[in-house]
Amino acid sequence: MNYRKSMMPNKNGELVIGGVKVSELREKYGTPLYVMDVEFIKSVCCAFKDTIAKYYGGFGGVAFASKAFSCKAIYAIMKSLDMNIDVVSAGEIYTALSSGFDISKAYFHGNNKLVSELEYAVNNNIGVVVIDNIEEIEILNDICSKKGIVQKVNIRTNPGVEAHTHSYIQTAKIDSKFGFSIENGDAMTAILCILKCKNLTLNGVNCHIGSQIFDSNAFRLAVDVMTDFILEIKNTTGIEIGELNMGGGFGVHYTESDPKYSLEDYCNYIKIITMAINDAVESKKIAKPRLMVEPGRSIVGESGITLYSVGNIRDIKGIKKYVCIDGGMFDNIRPALYQAEYEAVIATNCNAKAEETVSIAGKCCESGDIIIDKIDLPVAKRGDLIAVFTTGAYGYSMASNYNRNAIPPVVMVENGKSDYAVKPQSFEDIARNDNIPDFLK
Ligand SMILES: *Cc1c(COP(=O)(O)O)cnc(C)c1O
Repeated sequence: MNYRKSMMPNKNGELVIGGVKVSELREKYGTPLYVMDVEFIKSVCCAFKDTIAKYYGGFGGVAFASKAFSCKAIYAIMKSLDMNIDVVSAGEIYTALSSGFDISKAYFHGNNKLVSELEYAVNNNIGVVVIDNIEEIEILNDICSKKGIVQKVNIRTNPGVEAHTHSYIQTAKIDSKFGFSIENGDAMTAILCILKCKNLTLNGVNCHIGSQIFDSNAFRLAVDVMTDFILEIKNTTGIEIGELNMGGGFGVHYTESDPKYSLEDYCNYIKIITMAINDAVESKKIAKPRLMVEPGRSIVGESGITLYSVGNIRDIKGIKKYVCIDGGMFDNIRPALYQAEYEAVIATNCNAKAEETVSIAGKCCESGDIIIDKIDLPVAKRGDLIAVFTTGAYGYSMASNYNRNAIPPVVMVENGKSDYAVKPQSFEDIARNDNIPDFLK
């Protein structure tokens, strides 16, 4: 287990997170429950910013990719740390605005931003719109011209570097739904198109090469392609690109097969990116661009655990044993969606020896609703409290009301204090927008 300073078993073997015992959290808030360790979130944000300060003269910033975890409390944390954010819908913009976050520090991404979303973003003074499609250029320019403003834009490029957890490839075959290909000239066409628009100003270029990436060489390669492109823009148009946004995708620890990170290791991705840019700036003779990174998972992923209570045990003798929990795919879709793997403990007895291999099964009516397919645990019984680790990213943000289960509340903890970041849903909340059509009455 990758225990951290602010998330560790006490001497009785009970997991304590942010100074609060898990048994207290269950008593106060019930299960299933998402718990987020604020100290961890803050420490990662600060470490990422410090890395840019140390290795890149502070010439840049960190934008939290809020699709990983979006609610008012997280935007309030980002505001308090003077972070940038990345948003991907009007709903995320609305949530950030309602928490008092200054949207001029936000980057608006998306491969099909709705016209209404672009209008909403512009009307609320969005910082940068990241252009992802040639039609979007004209639509956005029209919106801005009606409003009489000049909007900062970046373009999302596709550098042809595809990174996965343990490998990466450079490919000319680009079949992504995101971004303009650099290789086939689409990205340059988009740049020239933006430069013709009176109400748009070109702020920078973006890429995002994948997610849950461990091999820093993938980022080195992407920097090389991106700085080549910046040089090409300079040679073609005479313009020096002011900002290079290298996206997110930094890998985190889910299971034994992933590296265990100290905060310092965590920052290594950014350190390597800064060094690669510094080298490229010198060798390619381009102006040093402002560096943005956009991590989501690495900021919130390991800050979060999900607490569940054990219900039925289904022991199919000699074949498989299921430990059923009061949550499942409605609070964590990742195992069903892409075979994501997790680790877990019996949280009131973390140090007990594993005695059997079981499946941790959710309560939804889907055979695929398994949170962990194979895990070695002490013998679990009804009422035991299970903690699943590294659920802070893409857990709550992907939750649903499948089977009309309530989306669990999110509690934040820090220095022995705890409070809701997202309150529990009532049955009434679940059915709030239901309507029986008049013609059925
Ligand atoms: C998803 C995404 C991110 C964040 O990715 P993580 O793997 O959570 O760090 C950043 N930038 C863009 C454009 C994305 O789509």
